[in-house]
Amino acid sequence: MLSVSSNAVSKISAFNPPRRTLLGPGPSDVYPEVLAAQAKPTIGHLDPLFVAMMDELKALIQYAFQTENEMTLAVSAPGSAGMETCFVNLVEPGEKVIVCRNGVFGERMRQNVERVGATAIVVDNEWGEPVSVSAVEAALQANPDAKFLAFVHAETSTGAVSDAKSLCALAQQHDCLSIVDAVTSLGGVELRVDDWGIDAIYSGSQKCLSCVPGISPVSFSAKAVEKLKQRKTPVQSWFLDQTLVMGYWGSKDSGAKRSYHHTAPVNALYALHESLRILANEGLENAWQRHADMHQLLRAGLEKLGLTFVVDEACRLPQLNAVFIPEGVDDAAVRKQLLENYNLEIGAGLGALAGKAWRIGLMGYGARRENVALCLRALEEALN
Ligand SMILES: *Cc1c(COP(=O)(O)O)cnc(C)c1O
Repeated sequence: MLSVSSNAVSKISAFNPPRRTLLGPGPSDVYPEVLAAQAKPTIGHLDPLFVAMMDELKALIQYAFQTENEMTLAVSAPGSAGMETCFVNLVEPGEKVIVCRNGVFGERMRQNVERVGATAIVVDNEWGEPVSVSAVEAALQANPDAKFLAFVHAETSTGAVSDAKSLCALAQQHDCLSIVDAVTSLGGVELRVDDWGIDAIYSGSQKCLSCVPGISPVSFSAKAVEKLKQRKTPVQSWFLDQTLVMGYWGSKDSGAKRSYHHTAPVNALYALHESLRILANEGLENAWQRHADMHQLLRAGLEKLGLTFVVDEACRLPQLNAVFIPEGVDDAAVRKQLLENYNLEIGAGLGALAGKAWRIGLMGYGARRENVALCLRALEEALN
């Protein structure tokens, strides 16, 4: 006799999620074509056809990041694993890292640095503010032995975008490698890895790429790869060790042959391939413009409803609109009403903004006129 009988579990029916409109901080609405791509037959992850698909996928990720970095790939895990990939591979125990913290994700970077056994020099900004370029410059000057500058390009917890171009230029001037979180920025706002001299960057599949969650595109510059090769200690994470993964993702041109490292999430990679293909078809700059346009539409409507933004206009992310919850309004009740009456999800406040703000995401496939209209109508009803 099985100690856990099948009687109880055999009554469980197939899970049928409703069709929601996802206007939170991610996951965003997945493109229908991407969902269809994921449902295609699973083939072996070393099948020559799959390997050819991975070569295309790499080219598509390079396009999205605007980089020619050879070491560009998709980590088989969510954005948090992309973050960890950058820190555990590049940072060694005892090294100094300047970490910018203006929200939840900068704090997570700091925790990664500490866990690696390195020293974090934290540059703090208020929640809702961008990373201060002058404060970073001062920290770099005060810490000439720092090896890295780490910051979040698009802080999803507040909706602030930081000046990645200037920050990376500063890092270069001070002989630091830059580590950039582009989980929410990729595909939604201007991002140019090679032009801006970004050394290590990671993103996520489920924000402005509108793919299924669970994959993290990453890219390392030649300088970052050199740093990785010069390590004195082995990368402490076996799974995220890029010196091992490179053998799996290495391109035919570089002479590397694909060898088994772990089983790729085959169907999820079909999905990523399709979402990046859709992005390339639209054109990166057109996608950035669409996000900006939809943000302006939403902004006008929200202001008509009397809602005010957490972030100053100059550094607002179009894809993440954080607005203060008006005095006397029940945060949870409004979000429940949106979900039940309109199948519409918006995000709650996170960390310092919990209970104080809503986060309305217009990401990827979600950044459409009809969604802006739905959100405004639903909010107007709920607020009255
Ligand atoms: C969502 C997010 C992450 C984490 O990604 P997961 O896929 O949830 O692990 C990291 N950084 C930022 C800025 C994010 O928005």
